[in-house]
Amino acid sequence: MATKRKPLISGNWKMHHNHFEAIQVVQKLAYLLGGEDYDAVDVSVHPPFTDIRSVQTTLFDQKKCEIALGAQNCHWEEKGAFTGEVSPAFLTKLDVAYVIVGHSERREYFFESNEIVNTKVKAVFTHGMTPIMCVGETLEEREAGTTEAKVDNQVRDGLAGVKPDQVASMVIAYEPIWAIGTGKTATSEDAQAVCAMIRAVTAEVAGADAAAAVRIQYGGSVKPANAKELMGMADIDGALVGGASLDPDEFAKIVQYRNLPD
Ligand code: PEP
Repeated sequence: MATKRKPLISGNWKMHHNHFEAIQVVQKLAYLLGGEDYDAVDVSVHPPFTDIRSVQTTLFDQKKCEIALGAQNCHWEEKGAFTGEVSPAFLTKLDVAYVIVGHSERREYFFESNEIVNTKVKAVFTHGMTPIMCVGETLEEREAGTTEAKVDNQVRDGLAGVKPDQVASMVIAYEPIWAIGTGKTATSEDAQAVCAMIRAVTAEVAGADAAAAVRIQYGGSVKPANAKELMGMADIDGALVGGASLDPDEFAKIVQYRNLPD
């Protein structure tokens, strides 16, 4: 059997935790996680922009802490007249390693198209960081049987013009929109089926080697109760966690899913 890719478990804090709260959360998380966890799993936290400098210095002060710093979004340009936006170059300077791109909330509330997502994926690479590109269907699309068509399109458009070696190093997060923040989770079989399809589309776009290497996270109401089963699926290489990542105890349990009961 082929060796599975090292999982990446990422905490997307969305617009929660000010910078004082963020410091406490990462200190507690660093205390709860240890060398065995980092050997088994890569971990990232994605605080709001205003917390990033505080989280960066807090992580730097923690001994033997390998939690990577992430952002939730960035602009595609390096600088310019883009009031209110954040440059990927600024994130690199703050030791940000991963940037979430095209989260469904950005697509829905801030009208980010597949083309914008693609431009951001490339900008993140240009600045030496790793994109976590989100894809996923609405409840209406799932019920209409168009999940595959929607996700196929998002993957093809999102990866257009991205070099195969970059695709190999990036992360794609499959997040069924109806499962985000709702407490509803896709069954592990349904999540696996879409993640396998994403890998097959990636093979068509970027080749078999890139598809074998790309990490595909599942996101949508991941919690300690369902993490182990989801992570056991062949094409699921981690989790993008929203609500449950706000509490360091809950998030640590998800990172340590291998110790959870079956
Ligand atoms: C998310 O924010 O990407 C997410 C999956 O949220 P939740 O875990 O709360 O469903």
